[in-house]
Formats: sequence, structure tokens, C-alpha cells
Amino acid sequence: MSIADTLEALQSKALEQLRSGEHSELLVAFLTTSIMLELTKLVDPNIDLEQFASAAVDVLTQYAPIEQCSLSLQLQDLPSVHVEVGMSGSSPDSPAPGGTASQLTLTDGGTGFLDAHGVPPSLQEAGLVEQAALQLTQGLGRMVEFERLRRSAASGKAFAAIAAIDGQWTEDHLVNVASAFAALPGARAAGISISAARLGGPVSVTSGSTGGQRIERSILIDDRTPVEAWIQISANHAPEHAAKVEELLDSFMSAIERSEQSIRLREEAEMDELTHLGNRRVASRALATTRNLAERTGESFSVLLCDLDNFKKVNDTYGHDVGDLVLKAFASMAAASVRAFDTVARWGGEEFLVVCPNCDEKGAVSLAERLLSGSPLACAPALPDGHAQTVSIGIASYPHHAANPESLVRAADQALYSAKHGGRNTHRTAPYPQ
Ligand code: GH3
Ligand code: MG
Ligand code: MG
Repeated sequence: MSIADTLEALQSKALEQLRSGEHSELLVAFLTTSIMLELTKLVDPNIDLEQFASAAVDVLTQYAPIEQCSLSLQLQDLPSVHVEVGMSGSSPDSPAPGGTASQLTLTDGGTGFLDAHGVPPSLQEAGLVEQAALQLTQGLGRMVEFERLRRSAASGKAFAAIAAIDGQWTEDHLVNVASAFAALPGARAAGISISAARLGGPVSVTSGSTGGQRIERSILIDDRTPVEAWIQISANHAPEHAAKVEELLDSFMSAIERSEQSIRLREEAEMDELTHLGNRRVASRALATTRNLAERTGESFSVLLCDLDNFKKVNDTYGHDVGDLVLKAFASMAAASVRAFDTVARWGGEEFLVVCPNCDEKGAVSLAERLLSGSPLACAPALPDGHAQTVSIGIASYPHHAANPESLVRAADQALYSAKHGGRNTHRTAPYPQ
């Protein structure tokens, strides 16, 4: 048994004896000393003041037969702290009557009190609460120093977290900003909410505990992306802390606005205006990432090049506007027919490329058949005279038909050519290379 284990066993035995009414001097002295020892162990640069205070009242209520205890701290330029066990709603400003309270006077001008109720007379006589308050005062001197250091580093951290927001930002970036905000001098809590289609809906992150005065910002980017950010600062904050909070909130809002606008520009540059599908650039990127994935996993993937049949005639007979509606109808049918991780892009004119990761020739043929039967149905509402808009499809699979994306699309194009020659409204698969 280690010394720590032995001490722990003695502590719980002593506590049991005290609870059962045995208050010998030796027992009280042992328990008081071991509580002081536990309190010295709490000083840790990795925890904040509130965690320190909670741990302190936990020690007092776990190692002594005390069921109600609270600790309140009023600190200069730092949020005040109030924690309690067993005495809900106790006042952070003054001890509750009828208990054993002891004042804490910190070296840097902070004050506080430790309030305990139901302390057995033997422990009262031994001055347990006074000794604990003294011990906490010493520990707090260092904890306050740690807290100040952490908080002065926090504005640097917050600026770095804001600077990391770019066109690729994710929820993790917001979590970093919110936690850096909540650790700013004077701050108690922070939160950010943003709602963007790209994120699949509203995203909200918060950090810290609540309370205090709320400073917030909200904007609507490009009429479509609402963003809100707030920081709660403690009532006793210094004016320069509020100014820093305002500055950082403004800087976050500009960063998120800039990044959302650049994301929108990129999306617009890559979106086909008529069909709202990705354009050829999106298709090329999907080909490259799918090929990389296939190389890593050893799986095959397929591409389907779809070309609407006799489309020139549709334009010539019914007009360009009808042709546009047909293109839109075919595009939404195709997008709705594929799996979530497939890509349907407008390859050009009346040609569409479908990239299907983890999909062999068999899977591609079954998708081609769905598109063949889906086309006349989907395009019918756009066309007069019961005209049936058919499509021809060329299929090629990696790695069987070609070893790189460019030759794969070329192979699919050759297969498409055979489908056209085979009478249209059909699919063909590329021949295996010799
Ligand atoms: P095939 O069955 O051999 O593919 O014959 P096709 O008539 O479909 O092929 P062709 O290449 O001769 O004609 C394609 C037509 O698609 C010509 C072009 O005007 C039309 N087109 C391309 N882009 C658009 C567009 O954005 N809107 C409309 N309405 N027509 C377009
Ligand atoms: Mg064509
Ligand atoms: Mg065509």
C-alpha cells in the first residue's frame, strides 16, 4: 500500500469515527491536518479559479462531517466566484447566519469568505474553518496569479483563433474562438451562433459559465447567413477589459464576414447558373479526390457521361427557353438519383458527368438504367407534344478502363459515342484496354 493509499484509508476511518460521535483530540488533529494537506494539493495552474473553489468546498464536505459549505471570492479585475455545497442559493455577498464563517483577505486586495454550517463543536474548537480559510488564502495567492497569466495570454489566443478562420473553417474553429473569448480578462462565458446552408443548418457553440453583463454582435451576411457572437463579462470587470472584449468581437465578426463572402464567391464561381449543379471545375475536383480515395482504399469508382439526345432539335423546335427548362429538369432528376457522396456536374452544354466513388461497373450500369428511365419522365413537364427527352450514357470504371481521371473520362466519351451509334436512349460501357 502506498503512503497516499494509507493516508486515504486513515482519513476515511477518522471521518467515520467522527461521524459516529468519537471526537478525541488526536482524531480531530489528524483530520484537520489531512484536510489542510488536501487543500494544499488543489493549487494547480491547469484549473481555473472556479474549479479551485469547487474542489475546496468538496474537500471540506468530503473529509469533514460538514454538509453545508460555501466559498465566495471578490477579486480585483477578475470575475467573482461563488460555489456552494448543500446550501442552495446562499449569498455571494455575506455568510448565512448561524454558521461558522471565516474571512479571506488576499494580498492583492481581493476578499472572500468561507462559510460552513453544521460543523461539529470539536472541529469548531480546533478552528477547522479558520485554518482552512488561511490555507485557501495562501493557495489563492498563486491561483489568482495563474488566472491572470492565463487571461493575459487569452487575448493573444483569441486573435490567433480568429486569424485561423478562413474559407475552410469548421465548427472546431468556432469552438476555439468561443473558449478563447470565455477566458479573456473579465469574461465569464462566450457563445457563437451561425446558420448557413453549407453547415446543414444552425450551429451554436458556447464556453464558460453564465452570469454577468452581455456584450453582443449580430450581422446578416449576404442576406442569407445570420451570425451572432456574445461575451459575458463579470459585473466587476475593469473598463479596459470591456474594451478588449468589444475589439475582439468586432474582429471576429469581420473575419467571419470576410470568410463567408469568399466562400460564396468560390461557390458562385463553381456553380452552373442554369442547373445549379457544380460546373466542370467541380467535376474535375471530384475526379481527383475520388481517384485519391480509390487509391487509398483499393476500391473502384465509375464515371457516367450523359448526353441528351437530339437536343439541338428541342431548341430548334420549341425554342431555347424550353431547352433550358429541359436541362434543369434533367439536372434535378440526376442529382436526386445518386447517392449523397456522388457528384453530378454540368460537363458542358447538354452533357453531364456523374462521378461515383466506391462504385464498380455493375453499380454504374444500374445507375445508368435509372437515369435512362428517369429522363423522359422528369423532362416531360417542360416539353410540349408529349416529346420524350432521352439520354445516352457512356460508362467507364477505374482502374479497369483507365489509370487516371483524364483517360477515364475519355473512355466514357468513347462509350458515349458507341451509345449514340447504337441508336441513342441507351448506355454503353467502355471496352477494356488492349
Ligand atoms: P446528339 O444526340 O448527337 O447529342 O445530338 P444533339 O443535338 O444533342 O447534339 P449537338 O451537339 O448537335 O447539340 C447540342 C445542343 O445543345 C446545341 C446547343 O445549342 C444546345 N445547348 C448547349 N447548352 C445549352 C443551354 O444552356 N441551353 C439550351 N437551351 N441549349 C443548349
Ligand atoms: Mg453533346
Ligand atoms: Mg446531345
